[in-house]
Amino acid sequence: MIDLTALDVLSPGSLGYGASPQPGLVVRCHSVSDVVQVMAYAAETGKRVVPRGGGHCFVDRCPAGGIVADLSGMDRIEVDDGGVATIGAGARLGSVYPALHEFGRTIPAGCGDTVGIAGLTLGGGIGLLGRQYGLTCDRLVGAQVVLADRSVVECGEGREADLFWALRGAGGGQFGIVTELRFATVPEPPVCRIEGTWEEQEDLVKTWQDWAPGAPDGLTVNLSVQAGRATLFGASTLPPRATREWLREFTARAGVLYAIDIRLDVPYSMVKPTFSTLDSAAASRVRSEFFAGAMSEGTTRELLKGLTGNRRLAFTAMGGAYNRVAEDETAFAHRGERFLLEQVSEPGDPWVDEAWRTAHAEGSGRVYPNFPDLALEDPVRAYHAGNYDRLAALKKTFDPHRVFDFPQAL
Ligand SMILES: Cc1cc2nc3c(=O)[nH]c(=O)nc-3n(C[C@H](O)[C@H](O)[C@H](O)COP(=O)(O)OP(=O)(O)OC[C@H]3O[C@@H](n4cnc5c(N)ncnc54)[C@H](O)[C@@H]3O)c2cc1C
Repeated sequence: MIDLTALDVLSPGSLGYGASPQPGLVVRCHSVSDVVQVMAYAAETGKRVVPRGGGHCFVDRCPAGGIVADLSGMDRIEVDDGGVATIGAGARLGSVYPALHEFGRTIPAGCGDTVGIAGLTLGGGIGLLGRQYGLTCDRLVGAQVVLADRSVVECGEGREADLFWALRGAGGGQFGIVTELRFATVPEPPVCRIEGTWEEQEDLVKTWQDWAPGAPDGLTVNLSVQAGRATLFGASTLPPRATREWLREFTARAGVLYAIDIRLDVPYSMVKPTFSTLDSAAASRVRSEFFAGAMSEGTTRELLKGLTGNRRLAFTAMGGAYNRVAEDETAFAHRGERFLLEQVSEPGDPWVDEAWRTAHAEGSGRVYPNFPDLALEDPVRAYHAGNYDRLAALKKTFDPHRVFDFPQAL
């Protein structure tokens, strides 16, 4: 019988599971051999093992009594002379950005400080530099993975190429437990931090849908809309003058005052955390979909009508470098989309479903794998679109006995 007493076993309550199903065991892994041992224990006891990075998955994927392999003890970050960053799978964005900043480097990635680099990357990774440099997974050049049969493999271009392809955007927890990720970093740019808030909504939302996804790659502005308030926020790597000109064009087209605060020359790593509350989906119910074109005026108006209390519509600009990768080049299939729309409210608010259905009539039917939605009718097609058949075949190759499984898994 495999003995786990030498490992760092935590009480399930310490990871804040609250009312969700309690895992039977949470083991904080500090090394690859810890991960292998946890998987061997799971195999021997017939329990399901679920990897955990930042723990921000919108749905709880560990069944009651299952084992959480918590990777937070594996959060080392190193950058070599060629700018390749090796990041332990337990690292969170709040430590990734400052560590890369020390080397004058960064990666395009998300906003929330506590979001895990592993979950984010495995499902794609959308952020304020993404229209210029692509998804976080587009910068991935290699990974170390413990597969279902407990073998430890290195993958990258030309090495376990199928696995490497599948890890770039199919979503976490599908093919193995990733222990280390390697990224081709980019020089950290100084950026203009952009924020503006208006009471007007309809013209802003209409204009944003046409304008933001087609702005130059260096300019990313997202829009968060709540009752009586619309907030534009983002970052620009364009020169300040060009940034202002583009934003003036936006406000003129939307017919609103140019009430935008621009802070110049902020290191990218410092801009991200300042938006984490605006960009956050914590403690909420979220449904979402990609859109390949602007919604009609009637649909936009209908969506805005329902905004009361804490209900929020969050528009994220896609386009740019996200869409310069072919749909089948990585597992992330959504390469022709213009924006992502989230409906966010408190758990139990029926508006989330109503608003989602209203927008869905004009959506592309595609859903970001990092925003799992248990209410989807055909989830695997929504998450993986044209890449589904190849992913399903790879699932059979790498995990024939479905050691890694959860509702809506491949
Ligand atoms: C506050 C907040 C802000 C967010 N901001 C952004 C954003 O700016 N951009 C964006 O693109 N997304 C964003 N997201 C969504 C985020 O990308 C997903 O929630 C992502 O899955 C979180 O990863 P995690 O490691 O924190 O979560 P976890 O719950 O630990 O993991 C998510 C999934 O990946 C699996 N997984 C975790 N670690 C591993 C591993 N080492 N090997 C294999 N599988 C693993 C888990 O089993 C689970 O299925 C945000 C979410 C929240 C809650």
